[in-house]
Parts: sequence; C-alpha cells; structure tokens
Amino acid sequence: MRTVARRAVFVGVDIGGTFLKAGLVRGSRLLREVSIPTGRAATPAGTEFLVSEALGRLGVSSGGGAAAVGVGIPGLVRFPAGVVVSCVNLPGWKEVPLKKRLSRRLGLPVFVDNDVNVMTLAEWRYGAGKGAKNLVGVTLGTGVGGGLVIDGRFYRGSGGSAGEIGHLPLAAEGPACPCGGRACLEQTVGNKQILGWVKGELKKNRRSRIWTLIGDHLEALTPEVIDRACREGDPLARKAWRRSGEAIGLALSGAVNLLNPDRIVIGGGIAKAGHWLFTPIRKTVRQRAMRGLKDVPIVPARLGTQAGMIGAARLAQEELERS
Ligand SMILES: [Zn+2]
Repeated sequence: MRTVARRAVFVGVDIGGTFLKAGLVRGSRLLREVSIPTGRAATPAGTEFLVSEALGRLGVSSGGGAAAVGVGIPGLVRFPAGVVVSCVNLPGWKEVPLKKRLSRRLGLPVFVDNDVNVMTLAEWRYGAGKGAKNLVGVTLGTGVGGGLVIDGRFYRGSGGSAGEIGHLPLAAEGPACPCGGRACLEQTVGNKQILGWVKGELKKNRRSRIWTLIGDHLEALTPEVIDRACREGDPLARKAWRRSGEAIGLALSGAVNLLNPDRIVIGGGIAKAGHWLFTPIRKTVRQRAMRGLKDVPIVPARLGTQAGMIGAARLAQEELERS
C-alpha cells in the first residue's frame, strides 16, 4: 500500500456526451477546472486527445504535479482493468483499454470507472452519503444510473455492471428498452420519456401554464420548464414529477428490500425538482418497501455538477493508495 501525501493533487475527468470536464482536485476541493465540448470527438481517439488537452490547460503536463488521474465515463467499465466494454451514448467505444492507453499517453497513473460509481464515490466520501455503510446512489438524467456501496465497499457485480437501477422492470408489460428488457424504470423517468409524456398530456390540455412558458412550441419543452411550471403551481407539471417520483419510489422499494441500505442519495438533472419529486419517492417507499427497511433516509445529492470530477479524483487517490 502506498502512502499518498495529504496535500497531493489529483486530476478528475468527467467524460460526458456533450462536455469533457477536468478538474485539479485536493480532497473535496476543486482547485481549477476546464470544460471542453466533445461533440463528435467523443470517440476513443478523440477522447484521449481531449483528456491530454485538458491536462495541458490545467497545467499538469508542464510539471503541475498531479499524482494520478481518475476518469469517469458513461459506460460499462471492467474494473480495475479500466477497459471500457461499451458506451451506449458515445460513438465507437467497444473493448477500449482506456486506462492503459491514457496512462501511456499522459505518463501518469490513470484509473477508470463508470461515471455513476464515480459520482456515488464523491457523495459517499464528501457529500450526502458521508458515513453510510450501505449506500445506494442514483442519478437521474438522459439515463437513470445507480451505484452501490455494500458493507463499506463498492459493489460492482461479476461483470462490473451492478447497480443498474434504471433497468429495474416496473411491470410485466411495457415499452421495450434498448437494454433488451421491458418496462424499465428508465422508460418512465429518463429525461426523454418524461418530456414525451408531458408533450402527450399537453396536447389534451390547452390550459397548462407550460404552453405559455414554451411559447406554444412543444420542442422548447425541457425538464427546467416543467420545473418552473411546477413551482408556479401548474397541475400538469406537478403530476409529471409525482408520476416520476412514484415510479422511482417503486423501483427503490425493490432495491431497499434487496439491499437494506442505510441511505439513498439521488442526484442528476431532475433531482433539482426538490420536494415535488422527493415527497412522492419517499411516500412510495414507505408504502411499498418492507417494514423495518422502509424508513431509509432518501436525500438529494450535494455536490451537484462537480461530483463527477471530485469523485474521479478521489478514485485516483484511493486506487493509488491501494496500488
Ligand atoms: Zn432497460
């Protein structure tokens, strides 16, 4: 086991479909960050280039002195090998030995994990999950992701893909999901699915406040608009969050019965809806999970959009100490 200096600095890289963000991190403090649009460059070769570009901008390549680099990527990752098996939303990622390729290119130790694990790690060490021994982390966005801490350790499953809360089935029948399943949670509460449901309801409801907010253009509908309409008292917007909260609560009831966690942390875009979403989630879990397990605290994530970078840096620190 290696001892890492207390004041050591790590680079945390958060790879997304739209932006690649990289930060220089000490502990839970983001000292400096850069954000580069990825666009079509999100291929493996493009990403390697952008990561080294980002490190250059952070001053790391010119002897800025980072001890190691951690990377979170939205895909299935074989850990600790750091091989990206697949990424549904990024082009060309299949069996890519990203850890090996990046460490060769950067001349630094590199560690790679799934982005939701990395965010869960950040919340577990520094945020709303601090102190938990058994933790479920959930991220709500285009997809619905999950990270699991069991008995004080990350649980990845036999192939590295444990914690796919977004693909817990909610019913026997329902819309087909790209994962191969049906009626998955994500098919109700993924961003696109929520917007699709609200658009369908809007066509039947000309009186909703949402029509004014989008200037009568359905394509202008975003989760932020629903959020605003909800705060302004629009019944349809409130129903959208209630319906989403109930679906999330149903899936989490299953997770609670299976894992008996001592806390659940929920982050990502639509978690910003706050109590409009959290109240139906908590209510459903209290109604549907087993007695003795159902009082688990369900709390919003605290680190926001920095969680990816801070968690990736923390991954680098912990794995370097372990090596
Ligand atoms: Zn699915």
